[in-house]
Amino acid sequence: MQPSHVSAIIAAGGSGRRVGAGTPKQMLEISGRTILQRTVEAFASHPRIHDVIVALPADLAGRPYPWLLESPNTRVVTGGARRQDSVAAGFDVARSETEVILVHDAARPFVSADLIDRCIDAAVAHGAAIAALPVSDTVKRVITHGDRRVISGTIARDSIFLAQTPQGFRRDVLARAVALGRAGADATDEASLAERAGDPVHIVEGNIDNVKITTADDLERARQRHASADTGRIGTGYDLHRLVEGRALILAGVNIPADKGALGHSDADVVCHSATDALLGAACLGDIGRHFPDTDPRWKDASSIDLLRQSVSFVRDAGYEVVNVDVVVVLERPKIAPHLGGIRQNLAAALGIEVERVSIKGKTNEGVDAVGRGEAVAAHAVALLRQS
Ligand code: MG
Repeated sequence: MQPSHVSAIIAAGGSGRRVGAGTPKQMLEISGRTILQRTVEAFASHPRIHDVIVALPADLAGRPYPWLLESPNTRVVTGGARRQDSVAAGFDVARSETEVILVHDAARPFVSADLIDRCIDAAVAHGAAIAALPVSDTVKRVITHGDRRVISGTIARDSIFLAQTPQGFRRDVLARAVALGRAGADATDEASLAERAGDPVHIVEGNIDNVKITTADDLERARQRHASADTGRIGTGYDLHRLVEGRALILAGVNIPADKGALGHSDADVVCHSATDALLGAACLGDIGRHFPDTDPRWKDASSIDLLRQSVSFVRDAGYEVVNVDVVVVLERPKIAPHLGGIRQNLAAALGIEVERVSIKGKTNEGVDAVGRGEAVAAHAVALLRQS
């Protein structure tokens, strides 16, 4: 059953500098995006999560990152000294209509959508439920005498589970846990507070990939795993503009002598627009309209080759480089063959890659449809990216 409103609290309040480098660990990058960004996006993009509350340390909460402010339905609160204080601060600003709240560690960026689903369903069914993993190793209880450690017993391993997050709660259950924490109880997770408040906490099967990035080794492993799973990315782009008299026909910044030119808010350059969409698509960064809305006066009469260049920098910021781009221009007349060299050069320069990695082809539409009647020009593009 889907509750009417589900919120997620991301606990990123700790400074967590154990990984090193003087940067809070949630701000370290894996393939061009910070750990925190990946974690927040996993929840913000989940179809059953309505809003996300991110508890940040005071110095970061005061100057949240632009991507965090742009992320829809995401709010920032200042976290506290202990993890439970950060969660309490998030709980305080939860919307009144919230029925179920998931609490998640900022340092677990690989949480899967189906694990989030399981936690929501179990929180609805039982009031409180956490992701946890069974233990495969034999578990020993150990007594420490000075520098010696001696086994005092073997614990039945089917009674042991390793707690992960998300930890999901019905609102009233989390309210009791938060109140207990505020009354002085210390805990390393919210489930412990709920247990102590007398609320039964159920287990759902966690995910072995849902690791918590705590040490420099964890970070390195996460980066390697991500890199090997993401060797190449393909994007496709399409664009069409009407052809009218009194406009220029611009293809990749090259002015093609023609009776009619392309009509549009900008210079209506179909090569640049389709290539831009292919790049943004390959990096899962949305589309040209999102980054350069035609309602924004900044882009009126903008040169599309500049927008393409700008989109290359977005792709680079996301951790990718362009491998190659291939474009087909569909245009009835004039023939663009004499201009292909210049178009290709311009495209390669804007993409920042060698001309050998850029292909451009001309096609007619054989007189069929609007493009065939010379009423429009269209372009199709594909782009391949690899991790930089
Ligand atoms: Mg266009």
